Amino acid sequence: MSLHKKGMMFVLSSPSGAGKTTLTKKLAKNNTNFKISVSHTTRTPRTNEINGEDYFFVKKEEFNSLVENNSFFEYAKIFNNFYGTLKEPVLNFLNEKKDVLFDIDWQGTQQLKKLSQLSLVTFFILPPNIKTLKERLLNRHKGQEKLIEDRMKKFNEEIAHWTEYDHVVINDDLEECYNKIYQIIQQEKKGIKEKRNIDLITKKVEELTK
Ligand code: ADP
Ligand code: 5GP
Repeated sequence: MSLHKKGMMFVLSSPSGAGKTTLTKKLAKNNTNFKISVSHTTRTPRTNEINGEDYFFVKKEEFNSLVENNSFFEYAKIFNNFYGTLKEPVLNFLNEKKDVLFDIDWQGTQQLKKLSQLSLVTFFILPPNIKTLKERLLNRHKGQEKLIEDRMKKFNEEIAHWTEYDHVVINDDLEECYNKIYQIIQQEKKGIKEKRNIDLITKKVEELTK
């Protein structure tokens, strides 16, 4: 039984390619109480992406007018594109006691954390190693060497933000990682906070960034 009158918010962030989108979708697919917050973005859709499902793909002008109307909970510029989370759909889900999943970066997470009235739990996902991360990016962006290089360059900057998150989970085996996150969510919904193993994570981050 949840301690919370409204739904809770669960954020998943990671360096690009570590698996947060896959994990977010798997959580929503397996649990009808989880709803994904579909972001707005000015980036162009990838071939397999569906407007309104993966993102709302909008022109810069539309994004700017949403910013001006104060419609976003948070927004950020990432890899030369803008990304943002609308307030209204999230508040509707929370009022319906749905838990909302966010696949957003550290800048957006920092902005959400400032809104103290929200029940927010944050996860940072790490890849098992750099070789695997590159393979995953290559798999997702076949032939786009420059794009992969740009995303890898951002890796150290992004990973430095792990300390700002409640939980840090390594995505090696997908099923294992999913189960770990799901178990933490169940605990958090009961008001139980599991402590991070700081030493272990520090060591892992050192290994990934050396
Ligand atoms: P992110 O949203 O963090 O950028 P994605 O979820 O898009 O990353 O994952 C990047 C790629 O890696 C995708 O092609 C996805 O299918 C694959 N992937 C994600 N997690 C795993 C895993 N545990 N094992 C193998 N492949 C994975
Ligand atoms: P991608 O272009 O690979 O889908 O996403 C690039 C980055 O943007 C990822 O780190 C993703 O989590 C982040 N992102 C997606 N939507 C939002 C959003 O609404 N706000 C913020 N701050 N980041 C987002």
